[in-house]
Amino acid sequence: MISGTREWAVAEINCSVGCPHACRYCYARVAALKKGLIDSVSDWSQTRTLDAEVEASRPLYGGQVMFPTAHDIVEDNLEEVLQVMSRLLEAGNKILIVSKPSSFCIEQICDRFSRQRSQILFRFTITSRNSDILRFWEPGAPTYQERFESLRLAFDRGFQTSVSIEPMLDLEDVQGMIEEIESYVSHSIWIGKLNRIEERVQIVSSEAAAEVERIRHEQKDQNIIDLYEALQERPLVRWKESIKLVVGLPLATESGLDI
Ligand code: SF4
Repeated sequence: MISGTREWAVAEINCSVGCPHACRYCYARVAALKKGLIDSVSDWSQTRTLDAEVEASRPLYGGQVMFPTAHDIVEDNLEEVLQVMSRLLEAGNKILIVSKPSSFCIEQICDRFSRQRSQILFRFTITSRNSDILRFWEPGAPTYQERFESLRLAFDRGFQTSVSIEPMLDLEDVQGMIEEIESYVSHSIWIGKLNRIEERVQIVSSEAAAEVERIRHEQKDQNIIDLYEALQERPLVRWKESIKLVVGLPLATESGLDI
């Protein structure tokens, strides 16, 4: 079954371990702990460069390449990110840049790779417009306003743009948010559930328990079906595997199709 990042890309590239965004649902932190790349959850907030990945030469992959998949693009790793992007682009690759975007970093990328913009598709993760929800779930990540400004910047500079509303943290506002952002999206708006909550989210307080309960309630099948019915005619909207399974859409059969 094609799921997760494989719905979007045939290859996944990373050049760091750790991320200051500290999302409570972070799948990459769980994986890094299992692989022994970090010793404890608290180590995750530090960004550590993987020199071998930065220096590696890059082939032409047989389809869209996603970068990064297990960290984000922040000022601490921006130089290394630019280096990796440069190598991927020189090899002729098409890169899907996925980020909770820092406007500073996105402007630098747009400046540096303006001439190769046809090879770059930005996908900005915007999970909610609500600052309380974002502060709880993604405490170190840019605000909604900064993510929206980054989207507008990339769009205005002529890059292809898309948005990932995955994990969807505020189902009731998804339609309102799409109305606000869609004029600056040229490619797609992907929507997906918060997956594997029990494995990824630690219930460390009553607030965490209440938030998890809110999300579980919002993600009930009938609510997902109602959302699908409300948005299915919108040409930019695409559904991740977590929603396809609920509404009965066929799953992707090939990786990297991004459709
Ligand atoms: S932005 Fe991504 S890698 Fe960084 S903490 Fe959040 S989920 Fe993890």
